[in-house]
Amino acid sequence: TEETQEWLQQYVDDWVTFYRKNTDDGELASYIPELQKADPNALGIVIRGNNGMTLRSGDTGEQFTLQSISKAITFIVACMERGVSYMLNNVDVEPTGEAFNSIMHLEMKQVKKPLNPFNNAGAITVTSTLPGTTSDERLEPVFQLLENMFGHRLKLNHAVYESERKSSTRNRAIGYYLLEVGFLESDLDVTLETYFKQCSIDVTIDDLARIGQVLANDGMDPKNGEEIVPRQIARITKVLMLTCGMYNASGKFATYVGIPAKSGVSGGILAAVPPRVRDDTMPFIDGCGIGVYGPALGEEGNSVAGIRLLRHIATQWDLSIF
Ligand code: GLU
Repeated sequence: TEETQEWLQQYVDDWVTFYRKNTDDGELASYIPELQKADPNALGIVIRGNNGMTLRSGDTGEQFTLQSISKAITFIVACMERGVSYMLNNVDVEPTGEAFNSIMHLEMKQVKKPLNPFNNAGAITVTSTLPGTTSDERLEPVFQLLENMFGHRLKLNHAVYESERKSSTRNRAIGYYLLEVGFLESDLDVTLETYFKQCSIDVTIDDLARIGQVLANDGMDPKNGEEIVPRQIARITKVLMLTCGMYNASGKFATYVGIPAKSGVSGGILAAVPPRVRDDTMPFIDGCGIGVYGPALGEEGNSVAGIRLLRHIATQWDLSIF
């Protein structure tokens, strides 16, 4: 299998080199000034397979902030702390087709709760249900869950947090609207502070691949069979990733890639490839987690090179869950 690892690595290296030159039509996120400091041509990927094989290629050392990927983590933590049925009473699980920071659907009379936990309205609502009075108290179980997965504690990126807080008019508007219609469970200022902080947690693609692997295995650590995330919660999270995880390009991503994934405006993508019965020429990709980083974004807010790379790999290795 060392041989297999070598040729798989060769493929991935070639693809990363190719797609790294494919970022011209992408742009760095501009509405959070601190994110403009990233290298728009960076591209890296980490793939963690269940058989212990890990492929790492390209710019694997970069640190970047979770941004919208944190919405998946806080949803998991809120479900663990408050219970699944409670959370699903507070936020729906329907895709919107609107931009992530859209406020439009909240105004429709028949809408009794935010449409899903992965747009900003839904994510801020989820964050408002986390127990604790200060933002640090509320984020503690988030840091704990991540520490359980990685064995080390993640850190807040204070520069991004400040930048995010200072350019937050839109999210404040969403917050006030949620408050006005009665969707927020706790203090608005603390909720927004918690939300900006969760977006500003620094990660690497190794971290994302690890989260993806746990989700791929329905919340279980494939190394020792230990449950890190309850199975039902891991499954709902993957459903949300597939239907709402790639902003308003989620339908296209499901069509062309077909893997549950969640992206963020810093250019990260977290993907989970659930195990499935197939011929066993490539057993390592079953139940694998993938982390991608490529900060140049397309119109919908997803990494342009990252999406192309994932599409290529999913096609070549037949990763679609469908
Ligand atoms: N902090 C960002 C916001 O809420 C996250 C957006 C994203 O990654 O989509 O505006």
